[in-house]
Amino acid sequence: MSDLHEKTSLPDPAAPWHHQAIAHVLQVFQTDEQQGLEGPEVERRQQFYGPNEIEAGRGRNTWEIFLDQFKNVMLIMLIVVALISGVIDFVELRANALPEGTVPFKDTIAIMAIVVLNGLLGFMQESRAEKALAALKKMSSPQVRVCRGGQFSEVKAAQLVPGDLMFIEAGSQLSADGLVLEAAQLQVRESALTGEANPVTKRICPVGLAADTPLGDRQNMVFSGTEVLQGRGKILVTATGMSTELGKIAQMLQSVKASQTPLQKRMAHLGKILVTGSLILVILVVVFGSLQVGNFSRIKELIEVSLSMAVAVVPEGLPAVITVTLAIGTQRMVKRQALIRKLPAVETLGSVDTICSDKTGTLTQNKMVVQRLETQDQSLRVTGEGYAPIGEFLSQDQNLNPTQHPEVQQLLRACVLCNDAVLKQDDQDWLIIGDPTEGALLSLAGKGDLFAEALQKEWPRLGEFPFSSERKRMSVICAMPNPDQAESTAAYLLCCKGSPELVLERCQTYQTATGIFPLQAEDRAAILQRNNEMAQAGLRVLGFAQRCLTYVPEAQAEVNAEQEMVWLGLVGMMDAPRPEVKEAVAKCRAAGIRPVMITGDHQLTAQAIAQQLGIATPDAKALTGLELSKLSQVDLEAMVETVSIYARVAPEHKLRIVQALQSRGKFVAMTGDGVNDAPALKQADIGIAMGITGTDVSKEASDMVLLDDNFATIVAATEEGRVVYTNIRHFIQYILGSNIGEVITIAAAPLIGLSEVPLIPLQILWMNLVTDGLPALALAIEPAEPDVMQRRPFNPQESIFARGLGAYILRIGLIFSVISIALMAYSYNAHPDNWKTMVFTTLCLSQMGHAIAVRSRTQLTLTSNPLRNPYLIIAVAATTILQLMLIYVEPLRLFFDTQRLSGQQLLICLGVSTLLFVWVELEKLVIQWYWAWKNPPKSR
Ligand code: ATP
Repeated sequence: MSDLHEKTSLPDPAAPWHHQAIAHVLQVFQTDEQQGLEGPEVERRQQFYGPNEIEAGRGRNTWEIFLDQFKNVMLIMLIVVALISGVIDFVELRANALPEGTVPFKDTIAIMAIVVLNGLLGFMQESRAEKALAALKKMSSPQVRVCRGGQFSEVKAAQLVPGDLMFIEAGSQLSADGLVLEAAQLQVRESALTGEANPVTKRICPVGLAADTPLGDRQNMVFSGTEVLQGRGKILVTATGMSTELGKIAQMLQSVKASQTPLQKRMAHLGKILVTGSLILVILVVVFGSLQVGNFSRIKELIEVSLSMAVAVVPEGLPAVITVTLAIGTQRMVKRQALIRKLPAVETLGSVDTICSDKTGTLTQNKMVVQRLETQDQSLRVTGEGYAPIGEFLSQDQNLNPTQHPEVQQLLRACVLCNDAVLKQDDQDWLIIGDPTEGALLSLAGKGDLFAEALQKEWPRLGEFPFSSERKRMSVICAMPNPDQAESTAAYLLCCKGSPELVLERCQTYQTATGIFPLQAEDRAAILQRNNEMAQAGLRVLGFAQRCLTYVPEAQAEVNAEQEMVWLGLVGMMDAPRPEVKEAVAKCRAAGIRPVMITGDHQLTAQAIAQQLGIATPDAKALTGLELSKLSQVDLEAMVETVSIYARVAPEHKLRIVQALQSRGKFVAMTGDGVNDAPALKQADIGIAMGITGTDVSKEASDMVLLDDNFATIVAATEEGRVVYTNIRHFIQYILGSNIGEVITIAAAPLIGLSEVPLIPLQILWMNLVTDGLPALALAIEPAEPDVMQRRPFNPQESIFARGLGAYILRIGLIFSVISIALMAYSYNAHPDNWKTMVFTTLCLSQMGHAIAVRSRTQLTLTSNPLRNPYLIIAVAATTILQLMLIYVEPLRLFFDTQRLSGQQLLICLGVSTLLFVWVELEKLVIQWYWAWKNPPKSR
């Protein structure tokens, strides 16, 4: 033990705790095995040990991130342009050939400033993206169930301290190292730590293991960063944060990396194409131009043209606008309760055409209230609301006292014993910690005066076969308080609850008030009939059974132990659909998205809920897990597009369903919460985990987390995804059209015999960054068009230039250049002193009209609400004012090499620049006429 730990009397996390006896470790950590640590002690330890966090390993340092920005091919080209331009200025300066009033190296400085600015911007965005992702990661960081001062609660993993009692179950991702105090079939995957892919079984080891036991064999310890695959456990936390085994190797951990979205990758590719294209063009201009001439000034002029073209072709503002759009999309989604974990999801959500959703908690409220209880003697209605254990048992509207009915009493007892939830009162409210299904059973038992605290002490649990979505049931083995007076001479009682069909299969007798009787075939049929009736009414039904045992079965002996049980009865609970889901389902349908329900629940319950929500018609058939497992993948693929309800499925079926849907070309969003849902979540195009009920493992595998577990949130996120994608298309359309126009205009100048370049690099940079950039940013935050959820989803395979976008950009680029070349030719002769400024101004102002018109491909600007996106109006107004300042404010004019335009010249520019706007509006009219012609109104 280190001096510091000795002084504070707090244990050293690094000690070999696996080697110590449990009792000793508890004593050293001063932890009460039942009560846990007291609140003030937790605080003291939090201060001493610090937060339970792993400091990220060393990633790239600030300089490296900054320098990485200059690996971009477009920026490299700009640097080359700046250098060449500098050399030319230098030569001219030496030869005293610089035109009068010209500031030397102006272009070089300006271009280099832009390059550095771009680098800084990229650097800031990258750092911000990393920070944002880390923050998002924190938001979805695991909650841990602990017991402190005898009270169960859920705390953030960061708040754990050595000495805490932590409870783990299938799906938990461990956030601290600890000693196993209780283990029920506890299996953990430790591959993150040891590389061992097979699950490791954990067990209690009262006296400790050998001191030199290697990490992978320490069965009495669990470690941070590993995942619980199965079972349940109670753990004494021994190490947190950097003291954990994971912390020790933290340097090896990769820091959070912002992955590039498909669009960002495509844009990087586009950058390369643009650069190559412009280089070819430059070579052509220089070669053909040089063939015609021999004097230096002409060659210099050609080089200037080339430099301008190279600058013009690079859409300098585009990467920033894309990053901002994705960031804003992520923020909008968080506001609507959808947390994006992987950035590409923002952009691809708009392509979702099938949403496969769990039922419980996503389509329904997951607030269970038991309404029916059926034993072989009694058919009871249960009253009461929420989780409050206040209500009555009514038999044909007569109040019934359950304490006077032993078979009802036994069923209620099983509800409490076979239960891992905690029911507690917080102020006036009754809350549950744990599974709502189990919470509802505790509140049911409370209505019959049976409470967990007393009963679980009286009947201590000695073993269990935990619940899993595959088994669809769970059992516990408890010691009987007074074996002699108990139902038999046996000393132990096994209580089982789960899917009624599966529990009933394992029963041979049934319990009544007067005794136990053999289950005949007709009894079974009657029970299943009652189960179906309840399920048809939309109730979630559980079956209960028990068995007296003379021994505590081994952990692996469930097949033998869960046999020959005595049937106790059925419990039916209502889990009402979420009110907002019906509307969300209708929205999906209008948007060409098919909702599919995939549930572990009974097919009739699933059908009833699906019908209430409009997911399926009353006659729609549900495919059960059993039927599905008999289908070949090919058969499943043949029917997967028509089935909307899958019931009684196991997690592995989910994977098959996603694969079948994908093989039919569907773009699938799939929800999941359990540990075994992870493969399906990874396979889905958008894997969605539940923020509240989801396991850590499912969150880790997902692209998006629903903070409110709500189906309607998926639909909202899809809508946002469509808006993001549409806006991205809008501003790409807007920006690239302008670049093409600029390049052609510049290239045309020497070809039509003009002696100078119309635009200098500085002006082009101004256009690309300011006059294109500001309105593009405004276009990026354009709100949803009213019909965004009335269109079909985007084809995920389509290129960003699909559906006419590429053609539009080329067309607009050509129109743009035709207009400016015409103006250039005219003004070169008519206004020889100011022609360059007139071209520059017209190009900039044309883009203002274009920004306003480009917002919709079909709706005329005059008929759209101008205030829908006030930012666009502000951006256009601000940019126009800035452009005028460049012409009329003396220092700016000198710097940007412009001339003061007369009123008449400015009017000409304004007039000509509206032509682009008029052209785009005319295109819309043509589209409208075309649609009207293709879809004539139906004659009556
Ligand atoms: P969904 O898949 O829509 O979330 P679900 O909650 O019914 O629905 P699972 O959690 O896989 O799906 O449960 C499957 C079945 O197992 C349930 O329908 C129920 O019969 C049974 N079951 C659920 N929870 C428990 C539990 N805590 N103990 C025993 N059996 C349970």
